Amino acid sequence: LLLAYDPARKLARVQVNLERTLVNARMIYELLDVEPRQQDKPGAPVLTATRGEVRFDKVSFGYTPERKVLQDVSFVAEAGKTTAIIGSSGAGKSTIVSLIQRFYDLNAGAIRIDGTDIAQVTKASLRSHIAYVSQQPYLFEGTIRDNIRYGRPGATDAEIEQAARLAHADEFIERMPDGYDTLVGENGMTLSGGQRQRISIARAIVRNAPILLLDEATSALDNESEALVQEALDTVMKGRTTIVIAHRLSTVVNADHIIVMEAGSIIEEGTHEQLLAITNGVYARFYTMQTARGETPDGAVSQQGVS
Ligand code: ATP
Repeated sequence: LLLAYDPARKLARVQVNLERTLVNARMIYELLDVEPRQQDKPGAPVLTATRGEVRFDKVSFGYTPERKVLQDVSFVAEAGKTTAIIGSSGAGKSTIVSLIQRFYDLNAGAIRIDGTDIAQVTKASLRSHIAYVSQQPYLFEGTIRDNIRYGRPGATDAEIEQAARLAHADEFIERMPDGYDTLVGENGMTLSGGQRQRISIARAIVRNAPILLLDEATSALDNESEALVQEALDTVMKGRTTIVIAHRLSTVVNADHIIVMEAGSIIEEGTHEQLLAITNGVYARFYTMQTARGETPDGAVSQQGVS
């Protein structure tokens, strides 16, 4: 399946062993900077957003001309607030997150940050406003310190250690034989899922960007990791515009705004209370089903339950 993805095809060319190392095609794609498609317009200005409001204005998009995966999608992710996106597999949630980072250009419509069309500004300046925490964070071959510094190459050691503390990553880093100089990645120390996520959150904290894109983990972490990851996420989300592909019921219920997607369109949006009030609404059914299955608003939910 991954070979169907353009980034993965490019990776094959640079002879990365996908089976061993591929954890997030989009992340590596950006890391290697091998995308030729979205060139900056000549003389494009830099983005100077400060609030970080993200607005989709009638966005349509397809990876191929024959098939649209987003149809006329409009929504506003308010500055400093949390917007949760839910929807069954293939609904277009990850595509939204990719388009905000401008991995692809739109077929129609516009995405604006604080009113500026992201297609008109330099990609580098756009991405400097965004931190992305993926489900399966990519750790490259190098020290833990370098892996956190990837969030902002100019970060000082003190800033890196402060970010690690806020992300609850210092607790395990300091127990490692070489601390922040411990080698991770393919031939280095193996980290658990929860530890990798906390490194990735530290990376996002160090980046200090106004917009946070978050693909919440579906895979189960042990209870302690789960609680620490959640606390770390709460820290990094504070005061930022967060757009989260939500897999936990608590994230959905606590979000300021919820977007329900189906087959490339938004079918419902609003707060938890507003959506629950829609008789026979998709969200109301989803919520009833999750809670009936014994999920509490603190438990993880499956995206399959939305359809
Ligand atoms: P999931 O919950 O399974 O991750 P999703 O809601 O995030 O699903 P997307 O990953 O955005 O859905 O996919 C929307 C549609 O676009 C799907 O039909 C998917 O197969 C297709 N798609 C996603 N990425 C690509 C790509 N790089 N090339 C071609 N088609 C793609």
